[in-house]
Amino acid sequence: MKQQRFDIDLDKHYNATVVIACEECGRETRMHLKSLLPDHALRCRCGADISMGAPEIQKAERQADAIRQSYRIH
Ligand SMILES: [Zn+2]
Repeated sequence: MKQQRFDIDLDKHYNATVVIACEECGRETRMHLKSLLPDHALRCRCGADISMGAPEIQKAERQADAIRQSYRIH
């Protein structure tokens, strides 16, 4: 299964945004983590498939939790 590259951003309300990097054109697509559905078809503007599977979404949620905890320490 293809691994999607992504980064996590938190806004000031600690809502997580997933920034998915397209493998074809490099364009970044931002999606709220809560609105991401496993294996839901997502397309970059160039037409490439940038959907994320359930394991990747779980990984994204763990990363968002880790970022939230690091914010609370400071
Ligand atoms: Zn693309």
